[in-house]
Amino acid sequence: MNHIFGPVNSRRLGRSLGIDLLPRKICNFDCIYCEVGPTTNLTCERREYVPTGEIIAEIEEFCSDPARMESVDVVTVTASGEPTLHSGLGRILRFLKERTGKPVAVLTNGTNLSRRDVAADLSVADVVIPSLDAVLPESFRKLNRPARCVDLGEMIEGLVGFSHAFTGELWLEVLIVKGINDSGENIEALIKVIRRMKLSRVQLNTVARPPLEKFARPVSREALEETAARIASETAVPRVDIIAHGISTFARTAEEGRTKIKFDYLKQEELIGDIEQMLQRRPCTAEDMSRTLALSGPEEVERLLEPLVKSGTIKKRLHEDRIYYLYGGNQE
Ligand code: SF4
Repeated sequence: MNHIFGPVNSRRLGRSLGIDLLPRKICNFDCIYCEVGPTTNLTCERREYVPTGEIIAEIEEFCSDPARMESVDVVTVTASGEPTLHSGLGRILRFLKERTGKPVAVLTNGTNLSRRDVAADLSVADVVIPSLDAVLPESFRKLNRPARCVDLGEMIEGLVGFSHAFTGELWLEVLIVKGINDSGENIEALIKVIRRMKLSRVQLNTVARPPLEKFARPVSREALEETAARIASETAVPRVDIIAHGISTFARTAEEGRTKIKFDYLKQEELIGDIEQMLQRRPCTAEDMSRTLALSGPEEVERLLEPLVKSGTIKKRLHEDRIYYLYGGNQE
């Protein structure tokens, strides 16, 4: 089983080597926007779903080629589900820190930060990126569809507590879905919780990749900008980014104490990185990718992917009269 993917260009982290800790979709959420697919094992049980030694052996093999390691900016621990459910997380993070010498980031849905063992495991990471999409119970249930064992209040207190204890960078990701957690009441409640946390950044996202449920619709760019500006001006978070369809940064300028807005369009290599990440999850048509990434049309996707198709990194396959792009040989 392959637990390592990439390195791919991540718009947030740079050239990122991914480590996937789970063999299939195991999670304590079944989010409507999930791009991995339906949760096959909805559980809060923390255990060694894959032998830790097997994952470490794969990392060791990758690290034994210095040229490959040279191309990596950051190692990102993630999963086809929730990585903190793997009980070997701490050992894997310590090994990554010692063996790679690269910054290590962990993506998590934030549910387990109230657990002492999980908080201790994460303490060696350089960047932890937990999610918190909704703090109102009804929106939380509709959006994240948690397992019965997840307690929203405990999750929020865990996030707040962890934010004050963790000494690395903590970036809170908030994903907003139209008609579910975008109301004024939801944003107001979220801001109240953010005010209690010590964060390096808030990252606002919306449904930017094919979601599990078709009814999970993105909010507009204007809605994201309005929310970002509110968070930047009503909390002490030093930086608020929008990470869907380009990156905007709302940063408080120290001298003026005001909110400054800067918008950078995605660079070509970041777009290609986004496409690679989509294709690693599932085959897509050029139309799908163009729509999801808000590009000018399928021709633009074809042009961007041409070098990768020529090199064999990405393959094309005809299925029911449509051409699908597949990543590498992993779907063969
Ligand atoms: S927490 Fe992440 S992996 Fe789990 S269902 Fe939600 S989006 Fe998917």
